Amino acid sequence: MDNQPLKHHFFVIMGPSGSGKTKVTEAVFPSEYKVVSHTTRKIREGERDHVDYYFETPEEFEKLIQNDALVEYDFYHGNYYGVGKAAIFEKTNDHCAYDVLTFKGFQQIEQFFGSKVIPIYFDVSKDKVVSRLNIRESNPVTIEQRLKLYDEEILVKNQVSSYPNSFIINANDDFEQVVASLRQIVECIDSIHCRE
Ligand code: 5GP
Repeated sequence: MDNQPLKHHFFVIMGPSGSGKTKVTEAVFPSEYKVVSHTTRKIREGERDHVDYYFETPEEFEKLIQNDALVEYDFYHGNYYGVGKAAIFEKTNDHCAYDVLTFKGFQQIEQFFGSKVIPIYFDVSKDKVVSRLNIRESNPVTIEQRLKLYDEEILVKNQVSSYPNSFIINANDDFEQVVASLRQIVECIDSIHCRE
């Protein structure tokens, strides 16, 4: 499996919490184009095991690492997240695929699979994140934690820009506009249109 190029592009979506990256991405790609990651985070209401994530115990996650099953893994906000090597190969066999990852995750995948891995960063202002958080989150402690995280996550923008095949999306725009921006990038990069 190692050193074999991917047949189709693998889009890696990044950006601060509150940038809308997950919802926008789900509106552009068919659900089966998502590479399902593994995580030790607790399952949230409305999520489904093996659909949103493979929800693992810390011991199960450790086993995946030992067996060299993950192409990358990272620790984010108190939990482990990682992507299976085989899952990326399988999902990109017939069409493009995507996942929402940390920058460290992207770096490791890009090193392993090369330029068929396309980084896309959702750029959003702090003011926009504050207004979105105020609408959906009432706990002031959670809001403060999220905004602290924003200050770290926004630094990633410059690092992503340093990759020649990267894209920065203005995520301050209306939802439909951001969806259109992402769709245009995907259709331009991938000769096979993902919704067909
Ligand atoms: P959430 O817990 O809200 O579902 O995800 C939080 C963040 O974890 C995502 O925004 C993404 O940056 C990161 N993430 C999710 N899956 C993976 C993965 O497989 N690998 C890495 N490195 N990061 C992930």
